Parts: sequence; structure tokens; C-alpha cells
Amino acid sequence: MKLEKVVIANRGEIALRILRACKQLGLKTVAVHSTADRDLMHVKLADETICIGPAAAKESYLNIPSIIAAAEATGASAIHPGYGFLSENADFAEMVEKSGFIFIGPTADTIRLMGDKVSAKRAMMKAGVPCVPGSDGALGDDIEENRRLANEIGYPIIIKAAGGGGGRGMRVVRSDAELADAIALTKREADLFFNNPAVYMEKFLENPRHIEFQVLSDGHGNAIYLGERDCSMQRRNQKVLEEAPAPFITEEQRKSIGERCAKACVDIGYRGAGTFEFLYENGQFYFIEMNTRVQVEHPITEMITGVDIVREMIIVCAGAPLSYKQSDIKINGHAIECRINAEDPKTFLPSPGEIKRLHVPGGPGVRWDSHIYQTYKVPPHYDSLVGKLIVHDVNRELAMARALEALDEMVIDGIKTNIPLHKDLLSDPVEIQGGASIHYLEHKLGMQDVSAQQNKEAEVKAESEGESKTTKASAEKKAASPEAAEKAPRKRVKKA
Ligand code: ADP
Repeated sequence: MKLEKVVIANRGEIALRILRACKQLGLKTVAVHSTADRDLMHVKLADETICIGPAAAKESYLNIPSIIAAAEATGASAIHPGYGFLSENADFAEMVEKSGFIFIGPTADTIRLMGDKVSAKRAMMKAGVPCVPGSDGALGDDIEENRRLANEIGYPIIIKAAGGGGGRGMRVVRSDAELADAIALTKREADLFFNNPAVYMEKFLENPRHIEFQVLSDGHGNAIYLGERDCSMQRRNQKVLEEAPAPFITEEQRKSIGERCAKACVDIGYRGAGTFEFLYENGQFYFIEMNTRVQVEHPITEMITGVDIVREMIIVCAGAPLSYKQSDIKINGHAIECRINAEDPKTFLPSPGEIKRLHVPGGPGVRWDSHIYQTYKVPPHYDSLVGKLIVHDVNRELAMARALEALDEMVIDGIKTNIPLHKDLLSDPVEIQGGASIHYLEHKLGMQDVSAQQNKEAEVKAESEGESKTTKASAEKKAASPEAAEKAPRKRVKKA
């Protein structure tokens, strides 16, 4: 099918990012939006707009029939899901394609394969991607066997839901005595949140970094890697600041892991942009999951490689071969992204409201990906990300200085933002040194041990009887990363 008109099934900064890529490719755009989002920047700029439902995401951005009807009514040829919402929903991808539209992402089968962490890990091990040592597949009910396995792996271990997402459905176990209860509880939670009770076991890494590899693949045997990003600065599994390349990762490591990721893409017939997420500890990479969509932090990779990831994913999903070979990809300098959220920098409570005054920094190596403008009202219904400040320079030290300078210049009045947190972080000696673990930011913020806290929160949720679908959805929302927050509880379709 010829690609002429694209429905942008998302909102906020990523909807605007997709609109820009479409316009550059000469494609017409359709903005589908909720009643709360009539004033979004991309809605103003799109060729056509359709209101698909009320503010609640469940009734608009997660409303599959409405989105497909919008594509039909406007004569569109493709649907771009962005991140979060329906972007990793295999049923949606399948319905889009069955209705005769191009899904700008991988096939439904690939999303299913990678959405189930047990099958994803199997596929990755087969492709030679290093994984966290763990159970070979879902855990059975034989507690003796599970104990034997846990001891073979060595405590601490982590029990994880095969269908999990958004940092939910996992529990750290430190001894035999806790194991049986932990498995039972995690299974119950997994069933409640993800409609899939399967859980598996993994070695728990105490102090890893989060390092992820960006890939692009055309589904016709061509795949490339675009280097890695360090996303270790996280709070409650929500990335706050990301950088590329990852400090102290050698060219040899980049090549070795990158090549395996690209090979895995070829093996599974991957199409579009994707990210392989790894935990990195003691010089070793351990695959944890693949995100089968564009990510919030893709711009830092664009800055160091010069590749327009969103444009390229549209091109390959429309059936064209990749425009790049691996040898075309060169890493140039260093890039940093600060996620600017409408939230109190101390309490992290959301801070919706009107943008009274806005001044955005500029100059060489400064990029601002955002949908906000002066007089825009940040609605209370969605994720709090209002913009991404991305800077690039020849090395890490200069990039950090540039980020600080840009944050100093930025003015967003009317709402509270986490700009003070970013300034503090960029002046922090451990951050300046680079290579901190995923726990560093929470320690810095004085938060309690996160694994213990997560276990506790999950327990409370799993034990609250008679939970309705709505509470489940809002519980997931609280997980609050833009990629995960707005997703409905993942409904897994069992593989044949
Ligand atoms: P989700 O899909 O819910 O985001 P992930 O598998 O990506 O789940 O894990 C989310 C986070 O949980 C990781 O970024 C890491 O902080 C922690 N985690 C997951 N697996 C492990 C592990 N084996 N050891 C230590 N931490 C882990």
C-alpha cells in the first residue's frame, strides 16, 4: 500500500515529533485527540483532526474501534502509535493490519513474542544476546524444584511476571523461607494486572546500570544498531535523565552487544525502531526486555548518529529497505536528555495548569522537543512530561555544561517543573563522574530501599479484594513512565 496519510494515535510531544517527520516526508497527517486535548500543538498543525472520545485515556487514546474508525473516515493508509497507550498492544497492531492499514511498528506476532518476557528471553538467548541467569521459562508449582532452582542461581533472586510492564509484577526474594509466598503473591498480581499468571525467576542484580541499545530493522533482513544509551538515572522505574553514549562503555563492547541485537532483529523478522534494554553490572550486559516502539529518549541517539529514527521507522514500515548500512553509523560526541515534567521538584506531585510564560533556550547543540506553548493548559489527565531538553556537544563534559546552561535559561511559569532537580543532578559529583547505578537517584533523594518498597506496594495491591478494571488501570497509571503509564492493563493473547 502506498503511504500517503498517517493517523497519529498519540498525544503530547511524541505526537508532534511524529507529525514533523510525516510533514518532512510529504505525508498528510490526521490528529486523533480526546476532548481534553483540542489545544495540543500537533492538533493545530495536522491536516485533519478527529475527536475520538472523552479525556479518560481508556475511552480515547486506548479506544481501538474509535482510532480505526478515524483512519477509515479520513482515508488514511497508516497508524503511528507513538509510545505508551496502544504502542505495544499486539491486538491493536493486528486489528490495524486486518483493517487494511499499515501499523508503524513491528508485526503483531513480533509484539506478542517480545511482550511475553519468557518467550522474549528465549528468543534472545537463541540469537546469542546475553540474558540474566534464571529459570528456563515459566515456574511450575513444585516448590522443591523452585527452591533448587533459586539455590542454583543463588540468592537474591527476583520473581517476575512474564506479562509484566511498567515496573509492576516483580518481587525480590533473599532466602528459601520467603520463596513460596513470593511466587504465590507475584502470580496473583500477574493475573490481576496482566491477565497472565505466568512468572519466572532471575538472578537479582544489586547495583546495575540501565544501558539500552537502539536498533532499526526493515523486516527484510537488514538491521543496524545505533549505539547505546545510559538511562540509570531513574525514580520509581521512571527515567529522569538519559545520556548517549553510555559512560565507560568501550567501542568493543558496543560492537559486540550491538551486533548481537541487530542479529536478533534479523532472526525475529523485526520491523521498525526498537530498543534492547540491558542491566549492566561488573562489565557484563544482561538483557531484560525489548521495547518494540519508539522511545521517549530516542533523540539523544539521533543527536550522536545524525539518524532521524522516527522518519526511518515510517519509511521501513511502509515497506522500503533501511536507508543505512551499519558502516554508515558513526558515533559523534555526547548527548543528554532532561525529561521536563509538570511536577513538584520535591514531592513529585503532578502540577497541571496554564503555562503563563515560556522561554526556551537555544543556540548550538540545544534541542527542545515539546508540545507546550504560552497559554497552553497542561491537562491533569495524562502523563506529566511537558518537554525534553536535549543537548549535544563534542564530549560529555561539555554536554553537561551545555545542559546546565540551557536549564538556567529556560523559563516555564505557571506550573511547577522538575528543572531544579535536573540542575541539582547535573552538579552532583557522582553524576559528573558518570556510571552510577539505577539506585543512585533514589538514594540521593533519600528514598527507602526500592525493592522492599515495591514488594510492599505490590502486596497491598494484590491483596485488595474485588479490584475493578478501572482501579487496575489507574494502578498502572501510577507507575507513571510516559511509555508505561497510559497503557491499559496488558491483555496477553496466549500463543498457539
Ligand atoms: P518492566 O517491563 O516492568 O519495565 P523490566 O524487566 O524492564 O520490567 O524491569 C524493570 C526494572 O526492574 C529494571 O529497570 C530494574 O530496575 C529492575 N529489574 C528487573 N529485573 C532485574 C534483575 N534481574 N535484577 C535487578 N533489577 C531488576
